[in-house]
Amino acid sequence: MSERRTLKPATEVAHLGRDPQKHSGAVNTPVYRASTMLFDRVADLEAAERGEYPGISYGLHGLPTVTDLQHAVATLEGGYAALAVPSGLAAITLALLAVMKSGDHMLVTDSVYGPTRRFCDNQLTRFGITVTYYDPLIGGGIEREIRPATKVVFVESPGSLSFEVQDVPAIAAAAHARDALVMIDNTWATPLGFAAFAHGADISLHAVTKYIGGHSDVLNGIIVCNQATHPRLQRLWTDMGVSASTDDCFLALRGLRTLSVRLEHHTRSALIIAEWLRQRAEVAEVIYPALPGSRGHELWKRDFSGACGLFGVILHPVAKARVDAMLDGLRLFKMGWSWGGFESLIIPAHPERTRTATRWEAAGPYLRLHVGLEDPQDLIADLEDGFARLATRSQPSVPR
Ligand SMILES: *Cc1c(COP(=O)(O)O)cnc(C)c1O
Repeated sequence: MSERRTLKPATEVAHLGRDPQKHSGAVNTPVYRASTMLFDRVADLEAAERGEYPGISYGLHGLPTVTDLQHAVATLEGGYAALAVPSGLAAITLALLAVMKSGDHMLVTDSVYGPTRRFCDNQLTRFGITVTYYDPLIGGGIEREIRPATKVVFVESPGSLSFEVQDVPAIAAAAHARDALVMIDNTWATPLGFAAFAHGADISLHAVTKYIGGHSDVLNGIIVCNQATHPRLQRLWTDMGVSASTDDCFLALRGLRTLSVRLEHHTRSALIIAEWLRQRAEVAEVIYPALPGSRGHELWKRDFSGACGLFGVILHPVAKARVDAMLDGLRLFKMGWSWGGFESLIIPAHPERTRTATRWEAAGPYLRLHVGLEDPQDLIADLEDGFARLATRSQPSVPR
């Protein structure tokens, strides 16, 4: 279980979740490769069968590399406990399965990560669970959407594609007044940028794959929960056999050690680039909650303690082929899904394709940028060349 928070976040990420004395003095908890764990006595085996064995009974039930990651993230975020799983999506789906049952209803933000929506629509509905999507900016108005059968209000703030900042305390107050749980996908902010439990979450979910991993080489997810929800999550995690692999948890812990310095750098560079983009004639709007004047900034300032390098840019209307030419030729901003690594990324994004409760109002194309750890001036030069390609009239190849 997590311990009370007393140190500053930069210190905590360096020290939480490791105990060198237990590992011959090694600074980092080694990768424990183990399936079978041996018992000395029949009495120990029997205790394990009753769930009363103090040690590790089987490799699937919490090897030290796994429990150290769980302990570190739970403590960092101010939760009670955490469970590590093989991906961020697995964290979301497992948490939903743990608290929902047939006949229940859930409210999900219309800005939710696409695969979360897919799971709700394709899978939860098969079990007689109903899902209603709501306007991410609804705030305390969520009260009107809560039904007697509503068990979960699912929040993602900011939305990882469209960056609406949600009023989590207002949503949590309304949900708790009607005995619904608040689940948040806190991947964008990480535990360092948003104190999910202090703002009313019951369960916080992270794609460790993104910033905690930080190097685009590990898939991992973590469910952080409060004391009330912990027994259900622990039960399902054990019953489903979905522990994260010990190698991946090792990489996640390694990433965690530098999370604080990386996020500071990502944010500083993203602010420089967002400011620069805002001045460009091709740009209609920059949506980056950490940027003063951006939509969502006031709520972000009220509730968040940090940001990251991921934000959106709405361009003025321009032909798709021009945008493709801009993106195809970029040297530093590469195209690819996911984000949170050291490298910069850019993709054309289409929030309008998935929404059902609200409309995505943008006249022009929309881009999502991940600002990596490169020098921001190099990144700006890359984008500047891109805008030159965007402006070039295409040369129709007319046969003579
Ligand atoms: C990437 C992402 C996930 C899923 O993480 P995976 O490890 O790729 O499954 C969940 N939520 C958000 C907001 C994400 O960006």
